[in-house]
Amino acid sequence: MNVPMLLPQFLDRAVKLYGKKTAIIGEKHSYTYYEVNQRVNQLSRGLQEAGIEKGDRVGYLAPNTSEMYEGFYGVLQLGAVMVPLNTRLTPEDYLYILNHSGTKVLFVHHELVNQIEPVRNQLTAVEEIIVHGLEQDKDGLIAYEKWLDQFDTAAVDRPEMDENDLATLLYTSGTTGKPKGVMLSHRSNFLHALTSMHHLRVSDRDVLLHVLPMFHVNGWGSPFYYTANGATQVFLNKVMPAEIFRKMKEHGVSVMHMAPTVLNSLLQYAANEEEAVKTAQELRIVIAGSAPPPAFVKRVEEELNWEFIQVYGMTETSPLITTSMIRDTQAHLPNEEKYRLKAKAGYEFIGSEVKVVNENGDEVAHDSREIGEIVVRSNTVMEGYWNNPEETSHAIRNGWYHTGDMAVVDEEGNIEIADRKKDIIISGGENISSIEVEGVLYDHPAVLEAAVIAVPHEKWGETPQAVVVLREGHEASEDELITFARSRLAHFKAPTIIVFADELPKTGSGKIQKVHLRKEYWKDKG
Ligand code: ATP
Ligand code: MG
Repeated sequence: MNVPMLLPQFLDRAVKLYGKKTAIIGEKHSYTYYEVNQRVNQLSRGLQEAGIEKGDRVGYLAPNTSEMYEGFYGVLQLGAVMVPLNTRLTPEDYLYILNHSGTKVLFVHHELVNQIEPVRNQLTAVEEIIVHGLEQDKDGLIAYEKWLDQFDTAAVDRPEMDENDLATLLYTSGTTGKPKGVMLSHRSNFLHALTSMHHLRVSDRDVLLHVLPMFHVNGWGSPFYYTANGATQVFLNKVMPAEIFRKMKEHGVSVMHMAPTVLNSLLQYAANEEEAVKTAQELRIVIAGSAPPPAFVKRVEEELNWEFIQVYGMTETSPLITTSMIRDTQAHLPNEEKYRLKAKAGYEFIGSEVKVVNENGDEVAHDSREIGEIVVRSNTVMEGYWNNPEETSHAIRNGWYHTGDMAVVDEEGNIEIADRKKDIIISGGENISSIEVEGVLYDHPAVLEAAVIAVPHEKWGETPQAVVVLREGHEASEDELITFARSRLAHFKAPTIIVFADELPKTGSGKIQKVHLRKEYWKDKG
């Protein structure tokens, strides 16, 4: 019989091969693989006592902490399903997700309890709330460490499991609307971990700083592939540039994944703090998504001296399905050419079939500049949306998951993201990629952040409007930015309106929520 692909095997392997090695470094505690495995077993026993069985849902509302990491393996080895919650939602959002998923036991970080309190008595399935960092049981809340202490550290009997069993219900970022519960199986996460280990060259010498939140699919994957290869994982509670550089220095961090908005903030910080960059030179790679322009890649590689890799994916695909990593056979290319390639979403991960198709479902010709939708077929594609067969059958058609992302393909088969279907601006019948326009604005020295959205226009139907945040100490007028954009873009693509803002609305994973901007500027295509 085949051995099913189950996620707990990764920790089993690490304990066997790297038992005495430091596995995780939290704010207060560090544990070896052997020690963390003991805590994982205690956690599983506690959950069993609380009545958790295979298939039950267990929620986590926590920043990146060692306690959250324990949850990954403590929940999954019971065949239970982990429901990680975005820490930046509202109490009403938590109520929706916890009731929608039928979460039975909820773990909460003590600083986030007040997010649950207002809706606590409306939770329909939650039976116990266990609080990380709480010293004593209080008001029906259970103190985590004391609770954990009662249970034995010995291995737990695992239920009979199949690789198609669910590992997680991961709610999407909600960039375009209400979050959907994405069902990912052990198999999907297992294969995603193996391919990520390969593409990102993860080794047991790696030290990962968890910058991306683990409640988001991108951060969710790393505790699997960095554990499988016995790397050390450092947790970061507050995503602040000074703190990131401090941790990098302290622990010799070799790899980080982050949203480009965070990477941008590191660039800003480093521009004023030369010391920071000098002390962060053990970094091997920095991995980010969201189609940054080549000029941004160049700054990361030349100012910070870090190798930049772009990845592309989404919750529904576990998440990564393409990467722009430079292949060995491209090593000879001039730097500018490499930056251009790295700014694309790149080529498909092993095991994923990725195509760009037009409205008839035909693949667009490479190098035709024809825009189509990215579709994917892979073992890492979700089982569907939880309790939402309608959205599921809309998303997965004829065996292909339809991403809702639009792209073109170059002559070498590299995928270049044009935009989300919902973000494309249609002006006078022409498609305008908001990402392309933003890329140009980012080239202006005064621009810190820019988001381009459609607003209604009498003559053209829609017109691009940019919402811009300026760098501290810099100035630029609306006219100046429009002229700048026109000098680098076809006229119809240049924004006709620029508004300035102090900040842009973002999701918990650092993505700009254009849906909110559109609402604010009276145009919601969503
Ligand atoms: P929701 O589905 O709830 O609206 P979301 O799509 O933002 O939220 P995620 O699954 O976290 O939720 O994000 C995946 C999306 O992020 C992709 O579909 C794509 O639009 C965008 N994205 C991811 N990687 C990249 C990349 N490298 N370049 C451009 N866009 C990217
Ligand atoms: Mg999405």
